[in-house]
Amino acid sequence: MIKVGLTGGIGSGKSTVSKMLIQKNIPIVDADIISREVLDLYPETLEKIKYTFGKEFIDEGGSLKRRDLGNHIFKSNELRKKLENIVIPYIKREIFNRLEKYNELGEAICVVDAPTLIEHFIHKEMNANILVWVDRDIQIKRVMARDKLKEQEVLDRINSQMLLEDKRKEVNYIIDNSRELQYTKEQLENILTEIRLLGGNNEGEKKN
Ligand code: ATP
Repeated sequence: MIKVGLTGGIGSGKSTVSKMLIQKNIPIVDADIISREVLDLYPETLEKIKYTFGKEFIDEGGSLKRRDLGNHIFKSNELRKKLENIVIPYIKREIFNRLEKYNELGEAICVVDAPTLIEHFIHKEMNANILVWVDRDIQIKRVMARDKLKEQEVLDRINSQMLLEDKRKEVNYIIDNSRELQYTKEQLENILTEIRLLGGNNEGEKKN
């Protein structure tokens, strides 16, 4: 099975591209979904979060107050790192479990959609990697509209992430999602054709 990593920055269009892949019946392992599920799958993660960040981030039903915790950690690299150290090992384990399941089901290709694919070195385990890239001004406008945030709040989130420009160097393929969706779709089609032709064996042909 060919394993393909899909990544980007906040609001660059990973979910949009993921939906296009689902329409093509390509299975997706979604790291964001897994990051929510690990709290249920491994209750010790929630306990560790409560112990590290405080019980004010857990609601009366015992669930994590994601938005509150998100706002609390986004301005601090140190706090973000603390949260990642708790949940990332479990998320990675689940990603590879699910990839293995798709492999056993006989799928030819599977895509791992992960915002921090590169930061957590998951891309090294893939046969090919795709970055969904977007022009910075468009990125800010789209996130402001989608998440009802002020420009500065969006900038705080963008600045807390690895730069899209640095991510470009780590992947085999770049989709420019700054224009209309049809253009994004065409690029995706071409990339999938190439990946299937190469069988994912295009390591070392990274774009610079
Ligand atoms: P995040 O990682 O922050 O969840 P994402 O990378 O999954 O974001 P999307 O949610 O797919 O990004 O896209 C961000 C916003 O931009 C959404 O509101 C989406 O509908 C819109 N969008 C995505 N691609 C385009 C496009 N080509 N043209 C116009 N709007 C777009």
